[in-house]
Amino acid sequence: MLYWDYAAAAPPYEEVVRTVEQIMRLHYANPSSLYRAGLETAQLVQRAREVCAAALGVQPSEIRFTSGATESNNLAVKGAALQYQGRGRHIVTTEIEHPSVYDSCLQLQKLGWEVSFIAPDGRGVIDPERIAAAIRKDTVLVSVMHVNNEVGSVQPLAEIGRRIKAANRRTLFHVDGVQGYGKLETRLREWQADLYSLSPHKIRGPRGVGLLVIKDGIELSPLLTGGSQESGLRAGTENVPGIVAAAKAVRMSGEAREAFAARVTPLRDRLLSFLRGIPEFVVNSSEEGAPHIVNFAYPGMKGEVMARKLEELGMLVATRSACSSRHAEPSRVLLAMGLGNEAALGGIRISFGDIHTPEDVEKLEQALLAAKSALKIAEGGV
Ligand code: PMP
Repeated sequence: MLYWDYAAAAPPYEEVVRTVEQIMRLHYANPSSLYRAGLETAQLVQRAREVCAAALGVQPSEIRFTSGATESNNLAVKGAALQYQGRGRHIVTTEIEHPSVYDSCLQLQKLGWEVSFIAPDGRGVIDPERIAAAIRKDTVLVSVMHVNNEVGSVQPLAEIGRRIKAANRRTLFHVDGVQGYGKLETRLREWQADLYSLSPHKIRGPRGVGLLVIKDGIELSPLLTGGSQESGLRAGTENVPGIVAAAKAVRMSGEAREAFAARVTPLRDRLLSFLRGIPEFVVNSSEEGAPHIVNFAYPGMKGEVMARKLEELGMLVATRSACSSRHAEPSRVLLAMGLGNEAALGGIRISFGDIHTPEDVEKLEQALLAAKSALKIAEGGV
């Protein structure tokens, strides 16, 4: 089996597995305890905060640990909306955000907030001009992802950040950085990002831990209350093994970023030109996108049917974001990019990791050809 779903979950670094095990065995004391073992565990969390801050170019006081990027995104969006509702109840986001941002906005909409959803162009890129035009006096938050998880499109964050702050300097800027970190440069200061979410398990770290960078001076209304952990922002005993191992993955994948891109970009380019040579396929990614994600559709063939056939042929691929892949609806992202219903039901996502070789891509190409000829439109007909 060849695994082509790194954007859903990347296998952890050996060091990450070892760290989780070691900390679980040796440092099980609760970091809030007053005795020495507790203080030592608290120091491990603080050290992890410093490592993450250094990798992201921010202050340790700006790093908060959560249970994953889904929580980080919920906290950024709802926490900012609740905290700053005195300033206004308007949010700007895009039609291609991950459900953890998108559905948080829908929930706020039901509660009386106004949300402007900005459409991307045909490549899945958001025009900064459109963001700027949507900002009002009562806009408390703009949330735009770095790299789209389904098609890999990269958003012009520096320009978006500049336009947001020019339109309303009190509007906060949140970036979902989950698919960008370790693949592209992360420049929070240049983007003028106030809030930034990260998911360690996408960068070969552990599951069950996430990061939210909160610029010093910004307050969020907590979603989880009942304890003073994470400066009162996120109650609950800290996942110390996860936090320490996450810091390791953030550092290691940050250091490996250029090598990662150098390795996977030629593989991505090769696969893109192969796919473009197949007239039945619609290619939804491009060389301008992130180096690790390729999306294509076989209009008329459900993505699930194609993915199952590819699995039979030894290739594990995704249809869309793992969080919504079990839904039989067309992809919201592909629809927003202007694809028709048939194509939006047929999206396949292939995501690369640093283990892949040109020989692996060759095998994938053969499997794609075999799957295409094996599947008749009637089988997966939509
Ligand atoms: N944002 C994006 C862009 C993602 O791809 C994902 C993972 N599918 C998430 C947020 C959620 O991350 P987590 O799995 O850590 O909750």
